[in-house]
Amino acid sequence: MTDLLSKLTVLKALFEKDKWSLRELSWRTGISEERLMEVINELSGNYVVQRDEGLVAIASSDNPAKIKPWGWNIYHELIVGSTQVYARGLVPWSIVVAEHQLHGYGRHKRMWESNLGGIWATAVISLPADKSPYLNIAIPLTLQRVLRRIGVKAWIKWPNDIVVEERKLGGTLIEGVALQDSMTVYIGVGINVNNDIGIPEATSLKRIVGLTPRNRVLAPFIGYLTRVTKLVSEPSELVDEYLSNLITLNRVIVAETIDGIIEGKAVEVDEYGSLIVSTKNGVEVKLEPWRVIRLRHGD
Ligand code: ATP
Repeated sequence: MTDLLSKLTVLKALFEKDKWSLRELSWRTGISEERLMEVINELSGNYVVQRDEGLVAIASSDNPAKIKPWGWNIYHELIVGSTQVYARGLVPWSIVVAEHQLHGYGRHKRMWESNLGGIWATAVISLPADKSPYLNIAIPLTLQRVLRRIGVKAWIKWPNDIVVEERKLGGTLIEGVALQDSMTVYIGVGINVNNDIGIPEATSLKRIVGLTPRNRVLAPFIGYLTRVTKLVSEPSELVDEYLSNLITLNRVIVAETIDGIIEGKAVEVDEYGSLIVSTKNGVEVKLEPWRVIRLRHGD
């Protein structure tokens, strides 16, 4: 096993120039050709690496810096603490994509494993404050749409996860800061694409469909975000689509909330992304995403 720093050193060079001969790459990185071969072999398990007539390259479709979406600033970093924290220093319509996160986090600041080969990104957008609650349903739905379009049978697990065959493929995280009538929103996405995962309940695109160029997911996702204001303009349509792709719907759930455990059947989601649960004693309880620490499907 080669170490992370050697891999990052080689990746840095591979991302900055389209093709390298082994010798040039060795000079550029200061890593011997023999050792470079080992590093490249390992990187080939997590990236779409092309080797042809003695030249080596990362496929441009697997290089986030190659996406040039109109109106966006893209920051492609090898390693950051968390893209959510990095994004706080960016203006709206910027996106940061990192190859590795040291302290990636999910809801309630839970650790998000972010090894090489996944999509770890945060987009900064700005929209009217009264529209921002609709992002709770719009963002997971958007990611689910993108995955379905590349042939992956992805579902939403309430509130923010993307699952395939009940295994977690990715998640979204929405954080925001209000300024008068407008809201700056930090939209985090973590998707297991070609990364190796140490979490038994998780899965990756590599496991499901094989090694996948990340821009096939990232580029259309950014495309949807460009049209986010339009996307949230019809929340009722969003809710219908969200519900038809929600694996949690009509399931028995056990929710650990900040006020205790709630058990019941998930019967509805409102336009703000709150889950309506019908409990055993016939009472309907509304669960706002922020109130729920963890949710498990009980059946
Ligand atoms: P949970 O998945 O624990 O029910 P959640 O859906 O709210 O909670 P988040 O808090 O957003 O998830 O994410 C953190 C949790 O996700 C961690 O507790 C861990 O179980 C899981 N996790 C961490 N990294 C990954 C990853 N790369 N892929 C899939 N799941 C992950």
